[in-house]
Amino acid sequence: MTAAPLLDVRDLTVTYGTGAAAVRGVDLTLDAGQKLGIAGESGCGKSTLALALLRLLPAGAKLSGEILLDGEDVLAMKWGRLRAVRWAGASIVFQGAMHSLNAVHRIGDQIAEPMLIHSTAPPSGVRKRVAELLEHVGLPASRASSYPHELSGGQRQRVMIAMALACDPRLIVADEPTTALDVMIQAQILRLIEQLVAEQGVGLIMISHDLAVLADTCDRLAVMYAGRVVEQGPASEVYSAARHPYAKALSAAFPRIGDPASRHAPQGLPGDPPDPSALPSGCTFHPRCPVAVEACSVEDQELRGEADWKAACLHA
Ligand code: ADP
Ligand code: MG
Repeated sequence: MTAAPLLDVRDLTVTYGTGAAAVRGVDLTLDAGQKLGIAGESGCGKSTLALALLRLLPAGAKLSGEILLDGEDVLAMKWGRLRAVRWAGASIVFQGAMHSLNAVHRIGDQIAEPMLIHSTAPPSGVRKRVAELLEHVGLPASRASSYPHELSGGQRQRVMIAMALACDPRLIVADEPTTALDVMIQAQILRLIEQLVAEQGVGLIMISHDLAVLADTCDRLAVMYAGRVVEQGPASEVYSAARHPYAKALSAAFPRIGDPASRHAPQGLPGDPPDPSALPSGCTFHPRCPVAVEACSVEDQELRGEADWKAACLHA
């Protein structure tokens, strides 16, 4: 018998108050210690999915489906339980640490805050734990008394990671954690996240528009387009031999890790992903797809293939 996965997302759909379905029928599973990458251009629903996992979406957003974290449905949790699960069960590292850190509070106090709120360390032990966490993410413990503006972008992102680790979560969701950083720092932060995940056996969901970064860091990849997962499989296979034309275009667009030119639209792929409130008929990728045939504008495709490698394309 195999153990239940750490995270089991079933048929998750998220609709914003505007009526736009930004995530549509997504299924994902993640085991403890596993690293799943989620790729896709801007606007494909990656952040919506990340926020949904901890019910951090704005009021008015409607969720359906199931999000089982260690077998417990996040969508059915009462408020008190949900608050305990945030940080201690699962935590999120966002892009752009400057906006997530409070400019007028010292770094050490900000790292201490989740531990005090969730009582995961006694007040007397918090200062020591902050020092440990800072050293763990490669910063001197003396940085606890610094303010965010005294740190570089890469150092601030390390602080965000320390905060995410503070309550020993089982799952870390990192949404474009390195996108705002330059290439050298990007690589350092990615190595740090990888090392921490390996040491502590937590599950990682890493989100990026850059497939090369994900292929290098993660065990498995899911490629999202217009709110759906269109391909899912082992990272190296999806990166080197994608079956869905969209995943192919993405992998061709990111030949090198952290290629600065590749922040822009994938080469050879005209146009933008559709707005969720005006989705094309059939396969939503068909208007941009180089291999679309007439049937593609009529019929959408389910994910199919082998148990661990599936794509949603007529040609796959
Ligand atoms: P990604 O992270 O892949 O760039 P997002 O999840 O941020 O994608 O956005 C997916 C879609 O949902 C986009 O079309 C975006 O405009 C829309 N969206 C995101 N946030 C909101 C919101 N708060 N209200 C309404 N629509 C939103
Ligand atoms: Mg995003």
